[in-house]
Amino acid sequence: MLQVAFCDYHIHTKYLGCANGTMEVPAIFRECERLGVTSLGITDHLNSLDQLDLHASIKRDIAEVDTEVAIYFGVELNFLAVDGNFAFSPEVKEQGGFQFAIGGIHGTYLKTYNLRQMVDVQHRHHLRTCRDPLLDVLVHPYWFGKGEFDRQGWPWFDSMQSVPEGYARELGQAAKETGTAIEVNASANLTNPEYSDRYVKEYVAFLSVIAEEGASFSLGSDAHDIGQLKHIQAAWDVAEQLNLTADRIWQPKCRPVKGASSE
Ligand SMILES: [Zn+2]
Ligand SMILES: [Zn+2]
Repeated sequence: MLQVAFCDYHIHTKYLGCANGTMEVPAIFRECERLGVTSLGITDHLNSLDQLDLHASIKRDIAEVDTEVAIYFGVELNFLAVDGNFAFSPEVKEQGGFQFAIGGIHGTYLKTYNLRQMVDVQHRHHLRTCRDPLLDVLVHPYWFGKGEFDRQGWPWFDSMQSVPEGYARELGQAAKETGTAIEVNASANLTNPEYSDRYVKEYVAFLSVIAEEGASFSLGSDAHDIGQLKHIQAAWDVAEQLNLTADRIWQPKCRPVKGASSE
């Protein structure tokens, strides 16, 4: 496998209270070194602008650690409402010092269960994310939070069969046209204990249709616990299965803030 593919561009930290206490910056770097990650991106959530200060503390800790791994500083965005916006702009990007932005939809936005509608809402937000020039990567397409389904008493989204192939093709085309990478997300989609092996097979088939349309992919663990960083291997394996060449594995288009070729 190509060297360039040993990357992980979706990692959370404890600073925003999203990941647990094991996800401190120095510990993340040590574990990534052990796993053979050559390039990584820290991408905590930004759902409101008062969180910018917390992101600044992540950046301060990055500056203090010595590592050979190339480190990038990114952010993960969420739609603030159905068909809404992200808490992001060129000014916020500049102010937060973010080198790249990943993002997407994080809920069904439905009040009553309707599978067809659920898939349509996802698809619409996926396309919208691709068309946002400030977003580099569409995160975890068709990931759902199991908690939302349990609370509502809805049947779990346990099959990709409900996603029409045409949606995967349209997403692949939009991603190619706009230069937005589609994420291969380990913890949310590939190694998520809430999904069966059959689901994961269907999911890889969905990604392969997107790949046929010529899209590029970003590889991410979406780790929220230090033990989840190793799941990035599942994303690397899928990149290999999809026969992705190095030029179709997304990389930030700037120098890392730390490590490798940052100076
Ligand atoms: Zn997410
Ligand atoms: Zn995430």
